[in-house]
Amino acid sequence: MNVARTVVELREMLERKRRPGRTLGFVPTMGALHEGHLSLVRLAGQLDDVVLVSIFVNPLQFGPHEDFGAYPRDIESDLDLLEAEGTDVVFVPSVDEIFRRGALTTISVGPLGQVLEGEDRPGHFDGVCTIVAKLFNLVQPDHAFFGHKDAQQAAVLRRMVTDLNFSVDLVVGPTIRDADGLALSTRNAYLSREARMRALSLWRALEEGRRRLLSGHHIEVVEKTMWDVLASTDAVEPSYARVVDPDTFQTPDSGGSMLLAVAARVAGVRLIDNLLVDLRQPERGDETEGASH
Ligand code: AMP
Repeated sequence: MNVARTVVELREMLERKRRPGRTLGFVPTMGALHEGHLSLVRLAGQLDDVVLVSIFVNPLQFGPHEDFGAYPRDIESDLDLLEAEGTDVVFVPSVDEIFRRGALTTISVGPLGQVLEGEDRPGHFDGVCTIVAKLFNLVQPDHAFFGHKDAQQAAVLRRMVTDLNFSVDLVVGPTIRDADGLALSTRNAYLSREARMRALSLWRALEEGRRRLLSGHHIEVVEKTMWDVLASTDAVEPSYARVVDPDTFQTPDSGGSMLLAVAARVAGVRLIDNLLVDLRQPERGDETEGASH
């Protein structure tokens, strides 16, 4: 496994790895890797000849009062996990390396980046798009892999790729959960045992929301149900509980696919989760979507 810490090293390594007919799969991460991240690395290994993972805690996507400084970082353990997965190249740049000349030019995705997560975290998706665009330009992957756990992020990036004509196919892998339903997240590391139990209210809200939606309840009823599950749990402060169109994140048309999306602070830790419900095929969950888009 090759580890590049600078752009020059990355370019040299990619030059050696690239061959005509060999495809490159790219998995961008912020590190502190868990099975959710590793599932994307495995997906990349199934689809591509060369797998590149980046580890970069992107300051642009954190608000001024968010946890950029405290965000978990464990490079040594991350590199061991990636080596065990057979990753070819890992790109671990410093903040200075990436923003050597500042970040005057940024990307804004418009309305899709301003609802739900974008409303709660102003500027978040501009920060995500700006760094992902930079990484796409540096890596020039054939496929880039993202998790359905961050469904709005995937939708925003898909829109960016279309609008700005990036030559990359996005693949969205399913959300990996613990056995009790809690979606894996780097921020779960902040949770005490008790807070982790309360965090399960996000999954309970989604399951209850799905049940209501499938039994024909109106969207507003479903949203209220999910909100109430969160709000009635001790130490859980809901941010939103919404049913949206999975592409536009606006109110969905009746029928078809709907995304249930929740966010809450659990003992002060902000967590998000979502569940795709297909009203035509109720058994179809959030499986891998991708390369054809
Ligand atoms: P992060 O390091 O949190 O920026 O995440 C890097 C990538 O891993 C993103 O595409 C996330 O959506 C994805 N990811 C995070 N958690 C999970 C999970 N539980 N299941 C699947 N993918 C995930």
